[in-house]
Amino acid sequence: MLPSDILQTLIERTRALGDPQNDFVMMAEGNTSARADSETFFVKASGFGFQDANETHFVQVYFEPVLRALDGQPLADDQVRRLLREARVPCDHERLPSVETFMHAYLLQLPDVNYVYHTHPSPFVSLMCLEGAEMYADKRLFPDEIAFCGEAACWVDYVDPGLELAKAIRNRVQSFIRRRESLPKTIWLQNHGLITLGKTEKEAETAMRMQVKAARILLGALQSGQPLHFLSPEEVQRIHTRPDEHYRQRLLWETQG
Ligand SMILES: [Zn+2]
Repeated sequence: MLPSDILQTLIERTRALGDPQNDFVMMAEGNTSARADSETFFVKASGFGFQDANETHFVQVYFEPVLRALDGQPLADDQVRRLLREARVPCDHERLPSVETFMHAYLLQLPDVNYVYHTHPSPFVSLMCLEGAEMYADKRLFPDEIAFCGEAACWVDYVDPGLELAKAIRNRVQSFIRRRESLPKTIWLQNHGLITLGKTEKEAETAMRMQVKAARILLGALQSGQPLHFLSPEEVQRIHTRPDEHYRQRLLWETQG
């Protein structure tokens, strides 16, 4: 796909995610990104909402300087702004990429990750604010959660948004990959929000929608006061590796509007 087509897809899906009915974001919350080519990616500019996204609300950024900062010392806010300004591919506006550009750059250079969405859905953030919520990242309640969000989520303790959060995400994703020999589809940010990854825009969006549904189901079950019944590790594995579930995933990703 041409980078200009990728940008159009990203704009269209960002607007769809920003529909107020979803309750995923409000005002300038959240950010989305897509890999443009081997050297650059598109990421939402700082200060704009999802719902009215257009070409001028996105910035094309070089991977290299942003990824280099992840290996460096902590930076002051003005140093971060300068780095983000200098990492931009020149264009006809001066907008700055989101402060979460570091996290997007890291995730978009993982194999088979072409789209990254980050939102603050109300029911999901409620879950992220529960003491001990980390234990739910490894649990699954129903089959479609496994089919579209994977066998487990990657948990990240609360860290100040920006460069330091990107470093924390990198550490936790790397240990997730070592432990499970696969990439997470969803990343849970304590007291903050949700990140989903996808090879396609639909994969990242379906993971977002299903993870928020799963959070609602979990919160509803918790409110009943009854003990929860989670799927066993064996049941999770069986669904995670079942060929017909993979077929359903493909079918949904291909037909979802
Ligand atoms: Zn956020």
